[in-house]
Amino acid sequence: MARVYNFSAGPSMLPEEVLRIAAGEMLDYDGTGTSVMEMSHRSAAFIKIAADAEKSLRELMEIPDNYKVLFLQGGASTQFAMVPLNLMGRSPSKTADIVNTGMWSKKAISEAKKFGTVRVVATSEDKNFTYIPELTKDMFDQSASYAHITPNNTIFGTRYRDIPDTGDVPLVADMSSCILSEKYDVKKFGIIYAGAQKNVGPAGVTLAIVREDLIGNELDGTPTMLGYKIHAENDSMYNTPPCYSLYIAKLVFDWLKAKGGVAAMQKINEEKANLLYDFLDNSKLFKGTVEKKYRSLMNIPFVTGSEDLDKAFDKQAIAQGFINLKGHRSVGGMRASIYNAMPVEGVKKLVEFMKDFESKNT
Ligand SMILES: *Cc1c(COP(=O)(O)O)cnc(C)c1O
Repeated sequence: MARVYNFSAGPSMLPEEVLRIAAGEMLDYDGTGTSVMEMSHRSAAFIKIAADAEKSLRELMEIPDNYKVLFLQGGASTQFAMVPLNLMGRSPSKTADIVNTGMWSKKAISEAKKFGTVRVVATSEDKNFTYIPELTKDMFDQSASYAHITPNNTIFGTRYRDIPDTGDVPLVADMSSCILSEKYDVKKFGIIYAGAQKNVGPAGVTLAIVREDLIGNELDGTPTMLGYKIHAENDSMYNTPPCYSLYIAKLVFDWLKAKGGVAAMQKINEEKANLLYDFLDNSKLFKGTVEKKYRSLMNIPFVTGSEDLDKAFDKQAIAQGFINLKGHRSVGGMRASIYNAMPVEGVKKLVEFMKDFESKNT
C-alpha cells in the first residue's frame, strides 16, 4: 500500500493519524461492539461523540457562549439558501449586501435573490477574481438584513487579509475552505458556515456557528429543516445527524488540538504556502495567478503559460504520486490545495518535482 499526496480541492486529505484511529475503531467503537456507523444517534456513546466534537470546536475557535454550534447537512450550498431564509426577515428592507469574489459568492448571491433583494457591495470579476476588493464600513448599508463574504476563494485562490467592519449588520462568512486554517475572531461574525470536506472531515456534515440573536426569524414558509431554530433547540439531533462524518470531524478536532490548535496550524500553513509561493515567484516556468497581497494559504493556482506543458505536468505529477493538481476550468493550469492535513513534507516534495520539471522544460 502506498499513500499519495492528494492536492484535491475537496473532498481532500485527512490526517493519516485520524484514518488509523478510525480504522482501529471500525468494528468495535470503545467497547460498544458496534461501528459508529451502526449506532443509534440517541445512544450514550454517540451523544458523547457529538458533545465532545462541539466542545473541541468551541475550544479551537474560541467560540463565545452566545453562539450555537450546529452540525447540519446539505453542504455549504444549502447554507446559500438557509442564510437568507433565516436572516432576510431581520429588517424591513429584506436586503443582503454580498461581496462577489468568485463562483461560490455568485451562488450565495443567486440563492439570496430568491428571498429578497441583493446589493453586490463590491466585485473582483473585472480581473477574473484575482484579488479581493478593499472594503470600508461605509460601503455596507446599515439597514441591510445581513452582509456576506467568502474569506477564502477555493477556485481562484484568493484570501481576505482583513475581515471588514460591517457595523451593526451581521456578517456571514462562507469558511468552507479556510475554517480552522488560521485564527478568526468569531465575535466579528453573525454566522460562520462551512462544508466539512476541506478542512474538517468527510463530506456530509456542515458546520454552522450562529449568534443566538439571529435564530428564530425565519421567513414564512421556511421548511422546518431549513430553520436554524429547530436544530439549535435539539442539539443538532432533530433528525438523524451525519453520524460517521461527525465522528471523524471529532477525531480531526482532537488531532488539531494535539498539534497545538489553530495558531500552531496557521504557522504550519504559512510555512507550506510560503514554500510554494517563493518557488513560484522565482520560477522561470511557473507563475501564480493571484495578486500577491491576496494569495490564499489553502488553494494555490499556478500556470506555465502553455496548455500543453500544463497537461504534461499534470500527467507526470500523477505518475510521481502527486494527485489532483489539475486546475479548475475557470482558471486553467494547476491548483495545489494544501489544507491542514497536507504535511509540510508533501509541499516540499511537490516543489522538488516542480523544479525538476522546470529544468527539463525551459
Ligand atoms: C466547496 C465550497 C462550497 C461548496 O460546498 P458544498 O459542501 O459542496 O456545498 C461552497 N463554498 C466554498 C468557499 C467552497 O470551497
